[in-house]
Amino acid sequence: MSPPRLPAAPAALFPDVGERTRIEDALTRALIAADQRVSRGSVTPTLDRERFRQELGQFDFSAPRPLQELIDWTIERLEHGVVHMNNPRYFGLFNPAANFPSQCADRIAGSFNPQLASSGSSPAPVEIEAHVIRAMAQRIGLPPGSSGHFTISGSEANYTALVCALTRREPRFEREGVRGYAGPVAMYTSRECQPAWFKIVHQAGIGRDALRLVGTDGRGRMDMAALRRQVAADLASGVVPVLVSSTAGTTGAGMVDALPECDAICREYNIWHHVDAAWGGAALASEKRRALFAGIELADSVTIDAHKWFATTMGCGMFITRWPQVLSEAFKVAAEFMPSSVTALDPYLNTVQWSRRFLGLRLFLSLAAAGWSGYEAHIERAIAVAALARDELRARGWEVVNDSQLAVLCVVPPAGYAPVKDLVKRVVSSGKAWAAAAKTEGRDVVRICVTHGETSEADVAALVAALEAKA
Ligand SMILES: *Cc1c(COP(=O)(O)O)cnc(C)c1O
Repeated sequence: MSPPRLPAAPAALFPDVGERTRIEDALTRALIAADQRVSRGSVTPTLDRERFRQELGQFDFSAPRPLQELIDWTIERLEHGVVHMNNPRYFGLFNPAANFPSQCADRIAGSFNPQLASSGSSPAPVEIEAHVIRAMAQRIGLPPGSSGHFTISGSEANYTALVCALTRREPRFEREGVRGYAGPVAMYTSRECQPAWFKIVHQAGIGRDALRLVGTDGRGRMDMAALRRQVAADLASGVVPVLVSSTAGTTGAGMVDALPECDAICREYNIWHHVDAAWGGAALASEKRRALFAGIELADSVTIDAHKWFATTMGCGMFITRWPQVLSEAFKVAAEFMPSSVTALDPYLNTVQWSRRFLGLRLFLSLAAAGWSGYEAHIERAIAVAALARDELRARGWEVVNDSQLAVLCVVPPAGYAPVKDLVKRVVSSGKAWAAAAKTEGRDVVRICVTHGETSEADVAALVAALEAKA
């Protein structure tokens, strides 16, 4: 027999089928066991950072180590080294306990590892994503022909909206950038907006001064008269208004801007109207909440995150627009080496990213497994949990500051309690529950958001007890 002409592939990276099966089976069991411990344990990390850093220092990668050992080590450290969205007493930021179909999707995507840049490389995945986006566009009420794509985040989707607005408003933007505009440009959102907009105007090159933070109505919603005044004042001084982003489900208080009024102002002044529904948009799954979003179907574009209230794994956003041709104008590029088949569908020709993970499978499997009705039940349950917490706290003299119809509650304790920030710090460090300190309409509040699909009455009681604990 002649000697092999190639060395063997490194088995640590490419173990044989038997070894892979053994490790995958062990991993599945270890993750389920960890998840069960996590849901009963501390919500807050208990890891000693300094010691952990020293421990990491021992990984100098000079010699291989057994993967099984590394996996066990990782799970153990994550169990104590993250805030647990998987814990039903996490009443946190908009980070969900990931639903199970989306976790399955991640395994499948990781295994096939399809390249979603082009429809030529990945015809089935690209079609699946486009199908889900069309279903979402239809749910929003956008006209047929509306389209869009999955993003890694709401921020990427919001950034995409600004690039589209800039591209459509001034044809010279393509070659000359903002220098092609007749004057400085501006975009508008409310001062209760999600703060990623500050980074977005910076990275889009219009500058942070271009971000107009419009005042609110005292209830967390954009003041439409103030928006109109600001737009008029800008126009009078030679500024070009390009984008208004109204918010459907503010980060702080879960409020929805007056979408029809906002849209009317945008039409009057030829401004791109984007609706940032990163968190709240999932509530479109519930027929009962539809009225809250009236007017969203008029928007030029919409952001909805699947990794928030749709509870897929991180990060999975969506950008949806009635003007898909603007996406092609903004992100077109010539690349002879790319295996294109349907360029209108090729993500690399219509989006910010190039190489791209099969993110949309997460929402496809979740939505297909649960149906809209399953998601409606998920949404309504979260709203019911928030209502329960609201009633329990009100009964104890707490003031409820926001009047959101969604699953977020902003509360202030009665007299005699520690200031909000100290109170929240104490709750968080107790590990018994997790809530956020936030500000809405200038007030410091305890922000309680229901993000776990299985939070029980006992979990709400634990939160209330943690908030009420005096020491
Ligand atoms: C979360 C959120 C964002 C940012 O989305 P990411 O996915 O975290 O980048 C933007 N706007 C609103 C209203 C949000 O709730």
